[in-house]
Amino acid sequence: MIIILKENANKNDYDSLIGMLTDRGVKVSGINGVNHNILGLVGDTSKLDIDLINAQPVVERVQRVQEPYKACNRQFHPEDTVIDVSGRIIGGNHVQIIAGPCSVESEEQIISTAEAVKKAGATMLRGGAFKPRTSPYSFQGLHEEGIRLLLAARKATGLPIVTEIMSAEHLDLFADIDVIQVGARNMQNFELLKQLGRSDKPILLKRGLANTMEELLMSAEYIMAGGNSNVILCERGIRTFETYTRNTLDISAVPLLKQRTHLPVVVDPSHATGIASLVEPMSLAAIAAGADALEIEVHCNPSKALSDGAQQLKPEKFEEVMKKIKPMIEFCGKELG
Ligand code: PEP
Ligand code: MN
Repeated sequence: MIIILKENANKNDYDSLIGMLTDRGVKVSGINGVNHNILGLVGDTSKLDIDLINAQPVVERVQRVQEPYKACNRQFHPEDTVIDVSGRIIGGNHVQIIAGPCSVESEEQIISTAEAVKKAGATMLRGGAFKPRTSPYSFQGLHEEGIRLLLAARKATGLPIVTEIMSAEHLDLFADIDVIQVGARNMQNFELLKQLGRSDKPILLKRGLANTMEELLMSAEYIMAGGNSNVILCERGIRTFETYTRNTLDISAVPLLKQRTHLPVVVDPSHATGIASLVEPMSLAAIAAGADALEIEVHCNPSKALSDGAQQLKPEKFEEVMKKIKPMIEFCGKELG
């Protein structure tokens, strides 16, 4: 971190800034320029409050040299993080296909969908029991009953379960769930992230609707700072001026996140586009870009779905998509499952 000081800085203010910085464990070295004096900080600056430094009377401007995230930074952890989800490996040479309905609607629906996606080659099951809906009048999910039905679907198929949490108050209900998803709308629910940091469950953290990659990484950092290093990032499209798709899939986020961090990256082509016919091409693009998993919505009868009907694939279409995905995974030198 570099601090550029104001001209004619007051000596007392200067001393108090230096005291504040050294108290926080960083080494400070000064460079005296013709017009400005500069301080270079060496050490762990990730815990320094940049706003507080900016607020000091002698400070003109502060510039970060190092990223503000440490635990998820590849610089400090060069090897890929590989997460074992009940025997399924996320990261490294593996590609997992997480498929299932947007919402869990009934026992018959989730079990028949789980069986269909497994038959087509999916390696994990998704399904929402707590649904973050824009309207309070839309279907909100089956809650506790939905979790019970997901566990029944796991028993029937052996597929590990991914499902979304919306409040830390519900954490006990997720005790037997394999991967807890934090949805786009909760990416910056910091109290929830802190609670999940105390758990040892794998967390699938989705990028917020209008969040930068750095903000996504800072949210991952919240979970990791609490002691849980099992974080999986998910690119699910961001909001742009485009209206032909539900969101804009930021495919460049996949290789970029993998450069900046050691965490696995998942792509959700269903929420990214909102259009069932775009799921196949975006799935292929995501795997080519280096995604460690895909999360795809599949429903036996999308036109009757209680949420996200337009983007869900019928099982027959999902089977076709899987037939295209498999050779792409091989082409990338990876293996399915
Ligand atoms: C979901 O996966 O069910 C979901 C609501 O997605 P997102 O949080 O990405 O909108
Ligand atoms: Mn959905």
